[in-house]
Amino acid sequence: MSDAPPIERENLLGLTRPELEAFVRELGSEPFRARQLWSWMYKRGEGRFESMTDLAKAFRAQLVERAEIRVPEIVTSQQSADGTRKWLLRADAKQAFEMVFIPEPDRGTLCISSQVGCALDCSFCSTAQQGFNRNLTTAEIVGQVWLANRELGTSGLPVERAVTNVVLMGMGEPLANFRNVVPALRIFTDDLGFDLSRRRVTLSTSGLVPQIYKLAEEVNVALAVSLHAPDDELRNELVPINRLHPIAELLEACWHYLDEQNGRSITFEYVMLDGVNDSPAQARTLAKLLKGHPAKINLIPFNPFPGTRYKRSAAPAIQRFKEELLERGLIATVRRTRGDDIDAACGQLAGRVIDRTTVRLGNKLIGVAVQP
Ligand code: SAH
Repeated sequence: MSDAPPIERENLLGLTRPELEAFVRELGSEPFRARQLWSWMYKRGEGRFESMTDLAKAFRAQLVERAEIRVPEIVTSQQSADGTRKWLLRADAKQAFEMVFIPEPDRGTLCISSQVGCALDCSFCSTAQQGFNRNLTTAEIVGQVWLANRELGTSGLPVERAVTNVVLMGMGEPLANFRNVVPALRIFTDDLGFDLSRRRVTLSTSGLVPQIYKLAEEVNVALAVSLHAPDDELRNELVPINRLHPIAELLEACWHYLDEQNGRSITFEYVMLDGVNDSPAQARTLAKLLKGHPAKINLIPFNPFPGTRYKRSAAPAIQRFKEELLERGLIATVRRTRGDDIDAACGQLAGRVIDRTTVRLGNKLIGVAVQP
């Protein structure tokens, strides 16, 4: 028996192309092998090195010994009456995060998480109540898409790759985990990666303004912004990060993002809370704010969760709100609620989170877990 410590296997999932090239070189192979590996892992969803038949046998054997393709472990999986599926994925022995697949006739959207919990403390969001524990790694972020394609592929769906659209609208604030999210976005859109067009990858943010500017320099994906209120006073209450970055600053960052990215428009998410932000007057203020800009407004009927003080706006109120916007030349749609019978709808993802934040955003604006 040898006394040498066991070699720790490198998880190849989530490595950037240069990182994978460096690893391949370390094994003594040509860097172009990294391209082949990427294509096997992401395009074909292959998880076993032994099956990567155009790689030299000796190289495959090296990979088996030194590397792995490790995705998050599934804790539970649920299916809604409407076909929506939700998986609880292991973050560690005690904690878990969630991803949701929403099938539609012409596409399959996977809603993925970027953090275990969230520190931003939006008052109407169930994830906020759990607190924040940690950022997901790039491997855990791309691993969600990899896993969903595998799970859905084996469950009898006719398409080879079930996930055609990815939205970062699960647990967490993606721009607060910038360092791990950006490489994941590259893997989603790279033609040797998942090869999704930039319009099919959407990052949703509560409004971390400096990171929106940084993102504009890094990758081109569609941007969705959680606006939820037409004025600072109300937004301070609903989305507390607004106290740091008020609406005017946020919108400036949005238009800058579009300029830099040649983007078509920004989607503004607006949760419909009964008697809070759903009056026709508020719709008109919102219209004024966005008029003349490439903006789409997505009205999200509030999804309740235990302990919340909010109620969903009545259907006629949502309709009236939408009409006020349409009459003023804006594009507005109402998001169809999916998967609410399994708590998979927007804002209902709770996972299992042990809060580690000492100071939450609710009262004081310090201690936000934003990674450089
Ligand atoms: N942190 C990011 C992404 C996660 S949430 C963000 O804030 O954008 C995805 C969307 O669901 C956001 O617009 C969020 O505000 C909304 N949401 C949160 N809780 C909700 C609830 N209970 N009902 C409906 N939508 C909710």
